[in-house]
Amino acid sequence: MTIALPMQLRQIRGTVLIPLLDQPGFKLVPDAVLVIDDSGRISELKTAPDPCPIPETKPGCIWMPGFVDTHLHFPQSRVVGSASGPLLEWLDETIFPEEARFLDAHYARMVADEFCLSMLSQGTVAAAVYSSSAPSATQILFETMARVGLRGLVGLTLMDRMAPQRVLLDAEKALGAARELAEQWHGFDGGRLEFCITPRFAISCTPKLLKGAAKLAHELNLPVQTHISENQDEIDTVRQLFPKHESYLDVYARAGLLDGRSILAHCIHLSDDEWDLLADKGCSVSHCPDSNFFLGSGQMALHKVQSRGIECGLGTDVGAGRTFSLRRIAASAYDTALLTGSQTTAEELLWYASRGGAKVLGMDDRTGRLEVGCEADLIVMKQSDTGLKPARLFDSLVFQHDQNGVEATYVRGRRVYMKDGS
Ligand SMILES: [Zn+2]
Repeated sequence: MTIALPMQLRQIRGTVLIPLLDQPGFKLVPDAVLVIDDSGRISELKTAPDPCPIPETKPGCIWMPGFVDTHLHFPQSRVVGSASGPLLEWLDETIFPEEARFLDAHYARMVADEFCLSMLSQGTVAAAVYSSSAPSATQILFETMARVGLRGLVGLTLMDRMAPQRVLLDAEKALGAARELAEQWHGFDGGRLEFCITPRFAISCTPKLLKGAAKLAHELNLPVQTHISENQDEIDTVRQLFPKHESYLDVYARAGLLDGRSILAHCIHLSDDEWDLLADKGCSVSHCPDSNFFLGSGQMALHKVQSRGIECGLGTDVGAGRTFSLRRIAASAYDTALLTGSQTTAEELLWYASRGGAKVLGMDDRTGRLEVGCEADLIVMKQSDTGLKPARLFDSLVFQHDQNGVEATYVRGRRVYMKDGS
């Protein structure tokens, strides 16, 4: 006998993947019982007794922590797959014109709904999101994420130069709007949503804006996210704009933007000195392999991260990334590892896509963790053969996109997405 997937989870029986806390891997419990209390926290997690009076909740499926997307762009949702790279040309031709459309609140509201559903349907429960430079669109994104039940960091994208006027906001106005949004949303609903200081990248921010952004982050104790070292033309431009700085990373370091709550996306062409500085500052990395392939940017070597003990998560980087699926990104990260001489496994990459990402967001006490007392952010994945040996099971979850998929997504035990017919 089976029961339908409920709106509010109370108890589950089935195969559960429990992420290890501090190393990439999972404990597989083939027949577990998981109980969730009224507040959405896990109150019991144990191997099912024999005999067990509870029927299996969803046969042919696996329960695991929801995915965490450490880097994507809300206003690029509708231009996924626009083959107009490399980076700087793609920004000019495709991205800036599209992001300008988010000055229109009606358009922003419509896309916000699509954007959130795209994440939830792929099992993403939390994300670090770049909004556009429009405060109104950022407000709409917060409201939508609050309503649909998603977790995450959201940032007003800061840019005050080297882009069309319609997507620029001068430093004072942008920082004023960022402060207002942070005061309204940072820590919303028990820490489900946070405001993130988000300079787009060094090219699009004057030194005044970078410094002001860092000052605001320190004053309000906010996380920071930005791009770095994605493309050689970008790096050359940064060198011309900041000739007195030792490196690209040094621009952010001297502005005061780097600490244990800074998330740096791409990190493809960093020098060893930059990698060491990044590690010393305690920054985290968002690895965006699909985007890196699509814009021909290059590949980030995972071993540079692993050998320095840097926190790392995976990012779809929609819209340069062509999918909202962290499973596909994990597969792409596997390909990247092959090309860069890095050792990894599907199991490890699945951990980066969930628990690793939660650590990058600074939300690992709230999500990406299946333990008594933790909030129940879970997904149910269809798995054609739940009896597979663990290594094959992880391979199947990461690489077999055609057969298996997300049946339902839960945040704090509440269903936020269900596939038709589940
Ligand atoms: Zn990006």
